[in-house]
Amino acid sequence: MKDFLCYGTELNNMLTENQIDKIRGTIYGQAIGDALGLGTEFMDKKQVQKHYPFGLKEFSEIIQDSHRKRWIVGDWTDDTDQALCIIDSILIDGKVNELSFADQLYKWFNGTPLGIGKTVLQVLQTPQFRKYPHKASEFVWKLSKYKTASNGALMRTSVLGLWEFWDKEKVKMNTEQICKVTHYDPRCVGSCVITTSIISNLLLSDRRLTKEELISIGSEYDNTIAEYINASIENNLENLKLDEKETIGFTLKALSAGLWTYFNSVSFEEGLLKIINEGGDADTNAAIACSILGTKYGYNSIPLKYIDGLYYKDELEEKTKKYINAINISYANITN
Ligand SMILES: [Mg+2]
Repeated sequence: MKDFLCYGTELNNMLTENQIDKIRGTIYGQAIGDALGLGTEFMDKKQVQKHYPFGLKEFSEIIQDSHRKRWIVGDWTDDTDQALCIIDSILIDGKVNELSFADQLYKWFNGTPLGIGKTVLQVLQTPQFRKYPHKASEFVWKLSKYKTASNGALMRTSVLGLWEFWDKEKVKMNTEQICKVTHYDPRCVGSCVITTSIISNLLLSDRRLTKEELISIGSEYDNTIAEYINASIENNLENLKLDEKETIGFTLKALSAGLWTYFNSVSFEEGLLKIINEGGDADTNAAIACSILGTKYGYNSIPLKYIDGLYYKDELEEKTKKYINAINISYANITN
C-alpha cells in the first residue's frame, strides 16, 4: 500500500497502514456481505436450513433459483452498486454533494439496476428528481403517509463513514445529505448516522461507541431507535427475528443486525455467517454488518476465499484505491 503514502513530508496528516487496512475492510466487507447474503435473501430461517443444511458458507453454494440466478455468483447487488455510486460522486466532486450522487444513482438506474428497492424506484421516477432529490424523496415519504422507512439508504451508507472520518459533524452532515436523496424518514437518517459514526470512530482511533452514545445519536432523529439498539445488545441473534415477514426491509431491523455483530461478533467470518444464515433481507443485513466488521477487524482479517470470490473484484479494487487516494489527499490538507 506504499503508493498511497507518498505525498511528501510537508503534509499534515497521512493515513496509517492500519487505517488503510480498515478502509479496505469497510468497502470489501460491504461487498462480501452483500454478495454472500444474496444466497439467503428473502428466505425465512426454515428455508435457509432446507437449502443449506450445513449453513451457507461459500459463494459456490448459493442456490440458483429464479431470484438468485439473475446475478453471477460472487456479484453484489444494489446495496453495493449504490455505495459505489456514492464513491463515484465523491471522486468526481472531491466532496459529498447530493446532486452529484443523484446523478450517479440516476445513471445506475438507467443501466441494469438489479434488485432496486421500491422506495428508490419511486423516488427516481419522481419528476425533477435530479434537480431536487431531497424534495422528491420527501414527496414519496409523504405519499406513504410518513410510514415508509426502508433500509435502502442504510444499505449503501458505510462508505460515508470513511470520508472526512476525522470530523464527526461532517460525517453526520454528509450522511444525512446522501440518505435523504432517497429516504427522508428520520428513522432512516438516524440509522445511517449511527452506522457511519461507528465506522468513522473505529477508523479515527479504534474507538467503540457505547450503547449510551449510540442511543444519544439515534434519539436526535427518532425515539424508537433506542429500543432497537437495546435489543441488539441484550437479545441473542434469533430474538431479532431478522426473517420476520412483516418487518423485512425495515431500516431499524437492518440496523439491529449490524449492531448485533458490532457488539457480539468475534471475527469477520463469524459475524458474516451468523447474519446470512438468519435469512430475511440478508444481503442488506450482511452488507451493513460486514462493513462494520471489516472496519473493526480490517481487510487482513477477511478470509481470502471471500475476497477472491467477488466476481467484480478487480473493479472494486480499482475503486477502493482511488477512494483511499482521495481520502488521503483530503486528510493531508486539513489544517490542524
Ligand atoms: Mg440488495
